[in-house]
Amino acid sequence: MAISIRIDHVTRSFGATKAVDDLSLEIKAGEFFTLLGSSGSGKSTLLKLIGGFDKPSSGQILFDGRNVEDLPANKRPVNTVFQGLGLFPHMTVAQNISYGLKLRGLPSAEISSKVNGMLEMVELGGFGDRNVNFLSGGQRQRVALARALVMEPGILLLDEPLTGLDERLRQQMRDEFGRLHKRTGATFVLVTHNQDEALSLSDRMAIMHHGRIEQLDPPEQFFQTPLNAFVARFIGLENQLRPDVIEQRGDAWVAIISGQTVPVRPTGRHDAVTSVVVIRADRIELAQAESDGHAQLRLKVIETTFRGLHREVKLVFDDGQPLVMTLDASAPVLAVGQTVVVALKADAALLTAAG
Ligand code: ADP
Ligand code: MG
Repeated sequence: MAISIRIDHVTRSFGATKAVDDLSLEIKAGEFFTLLGSSGSGKSTLLKLIGGFDKPSSGQILFDGRNVEDLPANKRPVNTVFQGLGLFPHMTVAQNISYGLKLRGLPSAEISSKVNGMLEMVELGGFGDRNVNFLSGGQRQRVALARALVMEPGILLLDEPLTGLDERLRQQMRDEFGRLHKRTGATFVLVTHNQDEALSLSDRMAIMHHGRIEQLDPPEQFFQTPLNAFVARFIGLENQLRPDVIEQRGDAWVAIISGQTVPVRPTGRHDAVTSVVVIRADRIELAQAESDGHAQLRLKVIETTFRGLHREVKLVFDDGQPLVMTLDASAPVLAVGQTVVVALKADAALLTAAG
């Protein structure tokens, strides 16, 4: 059965460092929830607190509304896949997977049926007798997952489980997590610094920074309404411009950037001094007759880079602030040094707080 998790004003200090800083958060039963953040932001510390491998300095953790403070790790309805996997090297695949069930004292017929079912689920049917030392990285990863899932945990914690795999395998395993989540119905909490994993798997995700949550939303929401410039950068909205002025005109807002007017939609807190204009690269196009009515900017081309399916074009305003747009790879290549007029599609520019 899936279990809900409530983190209530939790702090975990190491000396002067608050690895987790007065953090509150609710994860719904059965949700695929991701903690996304760069190294040192406190993700693993929070995961260890949920798993019971560490205790909060203050605050509470509740599973289905029940305080789990006095519940040691091995009594929690939780299984964890750590980054290093921690497979038992002297055991076969099947022995690794069955280890926890044996400790629980299940009859051996039931254990082997569960282990075989799990091997099928992670597509390692027939691998039971193999030595784990001779498996590929992806196979070992799947053994670690099977070992956690066979316990039928209400909560599965995954700490950077795909780091270190080559790109093709990482994508394959990422998609496998999504399927396993649907099949098991458990609450999944994934920790990663990889935005692609977070975006493709999560029902909701939180961006962590210095032990706190900067934003918690479904993935799409981060692109529509990033709450600050830090969050925007983290999800790849790299076009961030400093306006000369921002002005309210009726119900609408405009920013003046290097003398040119850009209509902006405010997201999050912003103020006249520290606001940042975020422009989505995918919502900029070369101006055409039918772009009339959209805001237009005159910019100079300083670099174009072939990226396979598209071409990245780096432009600059007169004051030197850069703006990157993407063009279809089959479009004519723009000359460096030329001035172009680009149009901003609806909702291309957001006004957000610095960060
Ligand atoms: P992440 O998993 O996001 O990379 P961590 O949770 O591992 O981050 O660490 C967050 C911060 O807490 C870091 O500054 C780290 O150095 C510190 N930290 C984590 N664990 C310990 C520990 N056992 N002792 C001292 N400092 C720690
Ligand atoms: Mg970590």
